[in-house]
Amino acid sequence: TTTIGATLAATAEKFPDAVALIDAAIDRTWTYREFRRDVRALAAGLLRLGVAAGDRIGLWSPNRFEWVLTQFAAAEIGAILVVINPSYRRHELAYVLVQSGTTVVLAAERFRDSEYAEMLNDVRDQAPDLRQVVLFESGDFTELLAEPTADELAAVDAIAAGLRADDPINIQYTSGTTGSPKGVTLSHTNIGNNGFLVGELVNYTEADRICLPVPFYHCFGMVMGNLAAISHGSAMVIPGPAFDPSTALAAVEKYRCTSLYGVPTMFIAELALLDAGASYDLSSLRTGIMAGSPCPEAVMRRVIDEMNMSEVSICYGMTETSPVSTQTRSDDALDLRVGTVGRVGPHLEIKIVDPGTGDVLPRGEAGEFCTRGYSVMSGYWNQPEKTAEALDADGWMHTGDIAVMGDDGYVRITGRIKDMVIRGGENIYPREIEEFLYTHPDIVDAQVIGVPDEKYGEELMAWIQVRDGASPLDADAIREFAGGHISRHKIPKYVHVVDAFPMTVTGKVRKVEMRAKSIEFLG
Ligand code: ATP
Ligand code: MG
Repeated sequence: TTTIGATLAATAEKFPDAVALIDAAIDRTWTYREFRRDVRALAAGLLRLGVAAGDRIGLWSPNRFEWVLTQFAAAEIGAILVVINPSYRRHELAYVLVQSGTTVVLAAERFRDSEYAEMLNDVRDQAPDLRQVVLFESGDFTELLAEPTADELAAVDAIAAGLRADDPINIQYTSGTTGSPKGVTLSHTNIGNNGFLVGELVNYTEADRICLPVPFYHCFGMVMGNLAAISHGSAMVIPGPAFDPSTALAAVEKYRCTSLYGVPTMFIAELALLDAGASYDLSSLRTGIMAGSPCPEAVMRRVIDEMNMSEVSICYGMTETSPVSTQTRSDDALDLRVGTVGRVGPHLEIKIVDPGTGDVLPRGEAGEFCTRGYSVMSGYWNQPEKTAEALDADGWMHTGDIAVMGDDGYVRITGRIKDMVIRGGENIYPREIEEFLYTHPDIVDAQVIGVPDEKYGEELMAWIQVRDGASPLDADAIREFAGGHISRHKIPKYVHVVDAFPMTVTGKVRKVEMRAKSIEFLG
């Protein structure tokens, strides 16, 4: 266990000429020597701004090279990086700045219709700790990156030498679907080790180039991407500021990427592009990671067969656990690689418990997934009660996810406690029905939720996306298709055909919003 700054130093020493970073939007490349030089320059710049170890510094920007430099510069001097969701608006922004006591924010001036500079200005009165905002486009940022003096570098080194691996380094706010957002607080040990071990299991070396269309402000990008890369001398490739399937595949082709990341919806969009006749040279791909939400088996198989990602891995985890808890390995049997989230990661413990009693369940039975070990957060920033709800006295993180562990130790995620539908006293996990609906030849994607019902308490509703040119599908058609294949009580009563689901910027379906809309149109 070491600090993130020390890991980067060791890699830059070992592979100075390997590519560290490529920003496709400006077609610029950094070797590890150049990358570490710029990181240290920015660290010195932050010291000039008065940032000290333990201070919270905010980072609000879509994916671009300045994001990555800021991530590692903050780590170098032990500042706690508060990563801010690019889709936030004033209310959410003010909340996280105040809750975390952020003093300095580095930000993009704007992104699409989001005027970050303007919004930061507007919330200044509400965030008394906020001293300074530096925009990436400004001369102030150029100054922060200016070549440091020998004394300034010595000051950076002195601070770096005094950091401890268990110090907090990062706060990530959860989406807060169940209340106000909680600031997951993570240390070098938490995320540095997780990034390293995730990279080990996909066999990264200095020859790998990882295409990262996933957002950096989330663990998927900043840990499984950036920290996995810098602990192996691999390259971080930023295809663009936000996900776009053609931009992602074009970057794979142009920069000969060996690895591609995405949540399932991203891979679905890339496959749809290929289906529509687009062609990209994906021959450089070897591996990649699919994670973040349930990974449909059919999508995994197509990614392996049609995107040349023969070694693609599924990871499962959550922000509170740095994030990865289980992972598939390239030498696992194919059925396990496409149909499970793998087995426990190195140096971690997992168990499946009865959510009511907390007792460990026999293999094969569905219960709450819990994990313990180096990856588990120290807690939610300044929210001890919320921390105590998630983390028990023995250090187990209770994830709220429902899982089944087989005799072989492989895990299937079958639902989330908060998505569970209770229909006439029967617990139903929508995931199971979604998986079944995917097997319909005309259904491209499906999401199932519970809606209030007078008779049964809740009824099931499916939102489906239908293939272009397919004949219309309604509840009767689905009932006919499902009859005899799944239990009657699991057949959705309502079917709603849509072009798209409401999504978060991380590419997750917002079931809360689906539920609210459904209740509205059911009257
Ligand atoms: P919030 O906690 O803020 O409401 P969130 O739980 O979606 O949002 P994350 O920590 O990013 O925030 O996501 C973790 C969750 O994503 C897990 O708890 C799990 O439900 C789901 N998940 C992640 N990976 C997988 C996977 N491979 N298969 C199924 N579900 C997954
Ligand atoms: Mg969560």
